[in-house]
Amino acid sequence: MRLARTAVRRIWTVELRPQAGGPTLVCPSCTAHTSPLAASSARSAALAHLACHARADVLPVYLRSCQCRAQGCAWHPRHRGCHGPVRLALTRDRGGRTWRLADACTACAGATSHTAVVPDTLLGSALPQSSASPPKPASAGLRPGPDEQVRVREMLTYLGAALPRFTSPGARLLGLQCALRADTRGHVRLQAGLLRGMRLRGHRDLWQELAHAGWLEPPDARSAPVQLRLLDAAVLDQAPGRLARRRAAHWALRPAPLALPATPPALRLTALALATHTSADTEHSTDLDILARMCGHSPQQTGELLDRLVTTGTLTTWHHNRETDEAAWQLPQPRPTNPPCSRAQRHPAWP
Ligand SMILES: [Zn+2]
Ligand SMILES: [Zn+2]
Ligand SMILES: [Zn+2]
Repeated sequence: MRLARTAVRRIWTVELRPQAGGPTLVCPSCTAHTSPLAASSARSAALAHLACHARADVLPVYLRSCQCRAQGCAWHPRHRGCHGPVRLALTRDRGGRTWRLADACTACAGATSHTAVVPDTLLGSALPQSSASPPKPASAGLRPGPDEQVRVREMLTYLGAALPRFTSPGARLLGLQCALRADTRGHVRLQAGLLRGMRLRGHRDLWQELAHAGWLEPPDARSAPVQLRLLDAAVLDQAPGRLARRRAAHWALRPAPLALPATPPALRLTALALATHTSADTEHSTDLDILARMCGHSPQQTGELLDRLVTTGTLTTWHHNRETDEAAWQLPQPRPTNPPCSRAQRHPAWP
């Protein structure tokens, strides 16, 4: 028997079916049908179940293909052609009732709404290893370069799909810190100084927002340090060690070379999303849609926030290429500390 390459289907979906006693999880692939779940854990149960299927149906990279293309690219409005490596993409429908995990190329995943690329690191060690796949070292799958930047980008992308659409920027910034600082049981401790530095200390509404989304158990707001537990099973047991994740969490507070504006959280989050796409070049760019999804904004709002980042001096300029739908931006040149200005002015040819 010959296996056709194109016959390998790697699409899994689950449905959270509303019931009187709480939603039940229904999976057509394995006919799982859970007893009613607490509303707060349903989302996380859906992600964990899909991740199990992806791990169990492990396939060598060269046999994986873009499942979006196999479906005629009907998952996204525009078709720019498949390109980029094939990764697992997580998509939820508008109401968060149906969740889909599928192999998709970078271009198709980027063009599909409510979709996040699930980092390999998130599917890492939490789930049973198939005997066909030897355990990977913690650094496998990471591109060379600044690991912190990659981790923060992956986590913001993941939260873009995992958190409800209207989650506020402040709650997303807190969620990012929690996901990167959690231990293997989802426990997080955040020092008061950290929250003060983020200008988010005492914002109980943000914790309530994340708790209402079923993403964490709300902390006792008066305790210091703030202690809480995450309910999103997908962010537990991430493959990179806790130390590496803490370094990423730390970088996200001061994502050089960008200087985050002090407030408001919407500007800080947008600047952080830009920082995760900032390279060594002088001009930096990415899809406006990608930035919008990482921040939970519409592309139009993202445009307005980029205008404001120019006003605050975080960026010198930005523009939107309407043909490619890319946003490109430039950062201020780092100020020379030596020689002093007056001297440089007297000697215009000073190197
Ligand atoms: Zn299943
Ligand atoms: Zn496609
Ligand atoms: Zn594709």
